[in-house]
Amino acid sequence: MRRTTPHPLKPPMTVPLGEFDLIARYFTRPVRRAALGVGDDCALLTAPAAGEQLAISSDMLVEGHHFLPGADPESLGHKTLAVNLSDLAAVGAKPMAFTLAMALPEADARWLEGFARGLFALADAHDIELVGGDTTRGPRNLCITVLGFVPRGQALLRSGARPSDDLWVSGTVGDARLALGHRLGEWSLDAAAQAASVARMDRPTPRVALGLALRGVAHAAIDVSDGLLADLGHILRRSGVGATVQADACPASPALRAQSAQRQRLCQLAGGDDYELLFTAPPAARNAVAAAAAQAATPVTRIGRIDAEPDLRLIDASGQVLDNVYAGFDHFRTP
Ligand code: ADP
Ligand code: MG
Repeated sequence: MRRTTPHPLKPPMTVPLGEFDLIARYFTRPVRRAALGVGDDCALLTAPAAGEQLAISSDMLVEGHHFLPGADPESLGHKTLAVNLSDLAAVGAKPMAFTLAMALPEADARWLEGFARGLFALADAHDIELVGGDTTRGPRNLCITVLGFVPRGQALLRSGARPSDDLWVSGTVGDARLALGHRLGEWSLDAAAQAASVARMDRPTPRVALGLALRGVAHAAIDVSDGLLADLGHILRRSGVGATVQADACPASPALRAQSAQRQRLCQLAGGDDYELLFTAPPAARNAVAAAAAQAATPVTRIGRIDAEPDLRLIDASGQVLDNVYAGFDHFRTP
């Protein structure tokens, strides 16, 4: 797209790569599923079947906010797509394609190669393709829009939770926050804990297979991006219900289990960026939840229940009520 403001930045110094060379070299691949991919004014997709609804979601990663300057480009390629796929997972949609809108300070071949490698490795793993986007010069900003499909009426929504539903979470929670604390100097981790938790923060696994397997089983779902209790709050508000969460039941990785109880709770309950699925299902569906988890090869843990009574109650293993001091991340509120 043409710019309208004069000379916003100096011309590129690293390699003499133009906007269209860059798109052609790094972001144009033959399409297999789309009717038309990169190169025209729009991409064209064909819906997989009648009765399917299109699921769309965008997520943006901004340098200095979501990642530090100098972050590994290959991990960024992975993460930019992973956080978007996580949103499709949370509604139980099957990913099909995505677009990439990016602002880059310069056309740096080494950065672009790494970014494209991370991006396409995850895209190939999910059999989805890049069908278009926009490329502009500016402070580094990476925005993907993912497109997927879900049979009409089968999307897992935040609004579907019902009183007496079990509350479940996939995988383990708190690892990304543990890594962030180390990176920010709040605490320090040994080499093994650091490697394990940094991998979770930089290369999250979107739980796409689990989202698909939970169609028709779960009542409500959300992906944990801002913090487990904060994201649970979205389900509660949208569903008009409350919940009781058993803090000590939340699944933790070995690295997190080795931390103090206080730090473990902070990371698990307030930490975001884990991209696990938090979902509700009726107690009668416990076997079906276990079957979905097995089918998706993704462990799930029951951490509480949905109540008719509003608000969130946090309890420990003995049933003692705990203060909920675990606010999640908010771009405009969190200092
Ligand atoms: P237009 O001016 O019509 O919006 P552009 O000149 O911006 O199109 O882009 C040319 C083509 O390259 C379009 O098909 C667009 O979707 C695609 N494109 C631009 N940037 C990217 C990108 N980062 N990744 C994938 N495709 C891109
Ligand atoms: Mg055009």
